[in-house]
Amino acid sequence: MIAWLGLGGNLGPVRATLVRALRELDQGPCRVQAVSGLWLTKPVGPADQPDFLNAAARLAVALGPGALLERLQELERRLGRRSRPHWRERELDLDLLLAREDGPLLVAGARLALPHPGLCGRAFVLEPLLELDPDLRDPRDGRELSLDVRRLRAQEPDAVRRMEDPGWCRS
Ligand code: ADP
Ligand code: MG
Repeated sequence: MIAWLGLGGNLGPVRATLVRALRELDQGPCRVQAVSGLWLTKPVGPADQPDFLNAAARLAVALGPGALLERLQELERRLGRRSRPHWRERELDLDLLLAREDGPLLVAGARLALPHPGLCGRAFVLEPLLELDPDLRDPRDGRELSLDVRRLRAQEPDAVRRMEDPGWCRS
């Protein structure tokens, strides 16, 4: 399976946590194929919290989507994520955005939904994701995700900014 992940955080040594997460994700049944740049993004929801760092990664995975999500959640906990209300700050967030086996995987569940429910409306997810793979489409209707990113840029031009940090994920 090919899986696209969104990574983010806004508490603690976030850049180092994201680097560690990618290193841990490149083990066992998972291989990291490509990683986006690092993006500095404004929090969505409550504004009284630090800006986020976000990135996206493409993985080749010898697991199904449910088992991969379990691995992501275990890694979030191991790298220090504590439980807080939705939309609050977090040390590490690992989201499964899209997955493809022979064709796109569609899952409709509360524990796992694919594509990720917030995919189309969030610049902090789409900008890093499309930096990796600009031609990605929403598998539900075939719509180019670049259309959503263009709309989000017009609505809120300052929401996200790519950082000048080449090779960040190998540091
Ligand atoms: P956020 O939506 O901000 O990432 P959380 O990381 O706290 O919020 O995740 C909330 C719930 O979303 C988790 O309990 C998880 O089971 C569920 N979830 C559903 N689909 C996905 C997905 N594709 N990737 C990650 N989590 C998912
Ligand atoms: Mg999450």
